[in-house]
Amino acid sequence: MHHFSRIDGALHAEAAPLEAVADAVGTPAYVYSSATLKRHYGLLREALDDHKAALGDALIAFAVKANSNLSVLATLARLGCGADTVSEGEIRRALAAGIPADRIIFSGVGKTDAELAFAIDAGVRQINIESGAELDRLIAVAASKGAAPAIAIRVNPNIGAGGHAKITTGGATDKFGVPIEEAIPLYARASASPHLTPVGLACHIGSQITTLAPMEAAFHTLRGVAETLRAQGHSVARLDLGGGLGVPYHGQTDLPSIADYVAMCARVLDGLEVEAAFEPGRLLAANAGVLISRVIQVNQRADGRRFLVLDAGMNDLMRPALYDAFHDLVPVRPREGELQAYDLVGPICESTDIFARDRMLPPMQAGDLVAFMSAGAYGAVLSSEYNSRPLVPEVLVDGDRWAVVRPRPTYEDMWAREPKAHWLQTLP
Ligand SMILES: *Cc1c(COP(=O)(O)O)cnc(C)c1O
Repeated sequence: MHHFSRIDGALHAEAAPLEAVADAVGTPAYVYSSATLKRHYGLLREALDDHKAALGDALIAFAVKANSNLSVLATLARLGCGADTVSEGEIRRALAAGIPADRIIFSGVGKTDAELAFAIDAGVRQINIESGAELDRLIAVAASKGAAPAIAIRVNPNIGAGGHAKITTGGATDKFGVPIEEAIPLYARASASPHLTPVGLACHIGSQITTLAPMEAAFHTLRGVAETLRAQGHSVARLDLGGGLGVPYHGQTDLPSIADYVAMCARVLDGLEVEAAFEPGRLLAANAGVLISRVIQVNQRADGRRFLVLDAGMNDLMRPALYDAFHDLVPVRPREGELQAYDLVGPICESTDIFARDRMLPPMQAGDLVAFMSAGAYGAVLSSEYNSRPLVPEVLVDGDRWAVVRPRPTYEDMWAREPKAHWLQTLP
């Protein structure tokens, strides 16, 4: 559920009219709802607090890669949310947004020595190790600092899941994590090092997962590895269950609820006496954002095909081009009239710059304002200035107030980032 709804026929973000936001900020622009972010975080927090016996004082570490806007992170930080990060830049963002280091997890398949050193110095809660090679480098970096950072081993449970092959991470051939057989000796090796403090295991098998069964199977596997390690005398205090729970992009009503998901996790970990961590990205942010755009024109072909040419392109919202993702498109103030089929396209010179085919919409005209729904996760973070289109701005709404939390750059801003080579600064 989310807080984008119609008031007197026009779509609003909470109490803010999207028409007014578009008039002030221009289009395309992302608009986020604080109330939706807070509601999703609150539902997860409540469900976890109902299962403290099995999950301990569970940490919610928002996957920053889903939406890294500083005001979005600051909204979550004020609720007590932590961060799951995959680069030095994301650790810095989380810290800048007010998320304390002891709630920051550092994940990722290719962390550089410099990034590992930064994470140690920042004092992050835990570094999730994804390979033996990375473990060796972390030992060397930690030794050079006389440190012993907390680590978890990310296990690849050989159970891939997710809404698309390109967002699956837990299969045997995926690059992520350590196979089960290797995880046990690796944990022993970490325990033997005076420069590491192994605290537990992690897994994350994919994204936009719409049934609980694959996650349940992966968590059972993770539990089994934890029990084997304990039987060998190792301490396993934390299990990081990753993110990946799917959200209703199509208005589906058959997805597992947050409560069902947490109850399943509690069932699997019951009696293990670990502290759980969760790394939701999409779950918190997807339905908390829309991308607003204006119709540039309608191209009507003689064969009947209608292209709705929008001022948002694949550089602003990449998910459909990247993994055939579905985003509902709604007119902000729909006209009266029969539904018609439109192909939704952007202005970019690429044939992948198409959002959808044959969408049924009321009659559309040039200048109409539309909203791509559920665009709050993996939207703005993936945007670029391809075709020299200024980076799409971001707006955060809270009740009837709203603020531009990432302005659209001017062309002068854009050129200023590209100093000319010194031999090209004067005319020939
Ligand atoms: C991307 C990612 C997440 C978040 O995934 P969602 O599907 O957005 O919940 C969590 N953990 C790790 C390690 C990730 O790479």
